[in-house]
Amino acid sequence: MTHSRMSRRTMLKGATALGALVAASGELLAQQAVSRSAAGPGAPLPPRREFVIRGATVLTMDPDIADLDTGDVHVRDGAIVAVGPRIELTNIQIIEGSGMICMPGFVDTHWHLWTSLFRPFVRADVNALGYFPVSNRLGQLMTPEDSYRSVMLGIAEALSAGVTTVHNWAHNVRSPDHADAELSAMRDAGIRGRFSYGPAQGMPDDQPMDLDGVARVKRAWMPGDGLLTLGISSRNIGAMSIGGAARGTLTIEMAKKDWGGARALGLPITVHTSGPSPIKMLEEAGLLGPDLQLVHPLLTTPEERAILKVRGVSYSTAPTGEARRPASVGVIQLGELLEAGVKVSLSTDHTTNYNCDPFVAMRILFALHQHRISDKISLTVKRLVQLATRDGAVDLAIAEKTGSLTPGKRADIILVRTTDINITPVGDPYEALVSLAQPTNVDTVIVDGRILRQSGKFAALDHAKVVREAQEAAATLRTKAGWPM
Ligand SMILES: [Zn+2]
Repeated sequence: MTHSRMSRRTMLKGATALGALVAASGELLAQQAVSRSAAGPGAPLPPRREFVIRGATVLTMDPDIADLDTGDVHVRDGAIVAVGPRIELTNIQIIEGSGMICMPGFVDTHWHLWTSLFRPFVRADVNALGYFPVSNRLGQLMTPEDSYRSVMLGIAEALSAGVTTVHNWAHNVRSPDHADAELSAMRDAGIRGRFSYGPAQGMPDDQPMDLDGVARVKRAWMPGDGLLTLGISSRNIGAMSIGGAARGTLTIEMAKKDWGGARALGLPITVHTSGPSPIKMLEEAGLLGPDLQLVHPLLTTPEERAILKVRGVSYSTAPTGEARRPASVGVIQLGELLEAGVKVSLSTDHTTNYNCDPFVAMRILFALHQHRISDKISLTVKRLVQLATRDGAVDLAIAEKTGSLTPGKRADIILVRTTDINITPVGDPYEALVSLAQPTNVDTVIVDGRILRQSGKFAALDHAKVVREAQEAAATLRTKAGWPM
């Protein structure tokens, strides 16, 4: 335990002694103390300045606002003020947008950020060292500090790739400190996101989830400054998941209790559907609704897709990982889902043995769609960019805040360089994004009006510190686990 974490515990203890009346302020103290933890962000977040992005190719992703071959975007107090061909303002900071595509940041709708540290341990080609057994084993050894460092590493990669919103699928909440550590990393990095509070690795399947802990996080952290929202990540339903215990399994009766508890708190739910589909079982139990996100759309029947459409359930596809699975567990059903009118969004899943690369994710979806379906169901490159931006915001129920360059929405914006070797010369910008772009082309990343990356470098996060602390934490886990097993 580091010195700063000890002082945090002392503060928590002190708050308890003051009694129930100050319990809420004790939680605030806990939040503030975590921010001073050893694995801090490096520097305070940049202020929200007023500026104009000038002369970019502007892709609004708003059906009511036309794209611009050359246009400007005005940002003030963290919000988009105007989008137009030429915005003339005096005494204002100009961000040069020529040679860039200006678009909404990517919205990543399912990511197990806490497993980012496991890269030295996971192997893509050795089943015993696959993602599930490794994360299940090492997850049980993680301290809150490890959780912070792992989540921070994942978010640093997210921002580098142009992701401005991330759904943190946190199914290793081993204690209140672990929850606070993950949330602190999200806050310290300045990213927008949902924290979906889950069970802990190794937790027995018949143990209900910690709804008191969820309620505490809601009191202590929400709404904060509006960047973070809260939900729960549920264990799988019915049949065992791939690899068994990593995400746990609930009977439908237990799901009613866990999900009912979340819904009583007004919180959305996310659950994986790997393996036999639980959709009809959930429908019969009356558990489907617009506050539910399913993950991995591989095995749905036409009947199930019709049910999902009616219930307003969304489905997150993580094509980079899904494309590695044997076809026997199902194929990525993007075309079928879109044709059925089901809400779909895009996600990374994890970055232990592949990267966060929304461009590659779109590319894989397009390739597999062409491979399986082709012109039978139309899929445009623009539709894929919409999937990676606006549709993600719809899935996470924050479309009023982000997902498009719409005046009044928060300024979550990226600039993608079109002069790099791998992408230039650019014709249709959507074609360039889906067929050619890479994370290294992401020049500038703005979240809630804060410029978090510019010229491909972090403005506040200390790159070297994030790397060093991740390496140290992985090395400590190696020793603790007596690796190899
Ligand atoms: Zn997942």
